[in-house]
Amino acid sequence: MTDCIFCNIVAGQIPSSKVYEDDEVVAFHDIHPFARVHFLIIPKRHVATLADCTTEHEALLGRMLLLAPRLAKEQGLDAGFKTLINTGRGGGQEVFHIHIHVFGGGEPANRS
Ligand code: 5GP
Ligand code: ZN
Repeated sequence: MTDCIFCNIVAGQIPSSKVYEDDEVVAFHDIHPFARVHFLIIPKRHVATLADCTTEHEALLGRMLLLAPRLAKEQGLDAGFKTLINTGRGGGQEVFHIHIHVFGGGEPANRS
């Protein structure tokens, strides 16, 4: 186990409900969804925030972003979706392993 929750999810040490995995990227449902469909796209390799990315990460970021519409469609978000990347404490980031939130489809079922 490492200190990083998402590295532990990548390693299979913490369970997650995966929607996608390849050699560089994993996507899984957010544990506290704020929409009917809400999943996170993360790199397998630890990068803390978007602000830590350099040109070295260009291809990885492109791969993650291009997965958003494909996975959103697979999850039933045919009418469109939102994306969000919180960066740093001031940006509301809570887990310091870069992730793209992809969400949509209205209120989660467990909210009144
Ligand atoms: P942030 O505020 O860093 O952009 O968002 C972190 C997100 O990770 C939150 O929406 C939170 O619900 C989600 N999250 C935190 N811990 C876990 C976990 O152990 N499993 C899953 N699936 N999501 C998590
Ligand atoms: Zn990590």
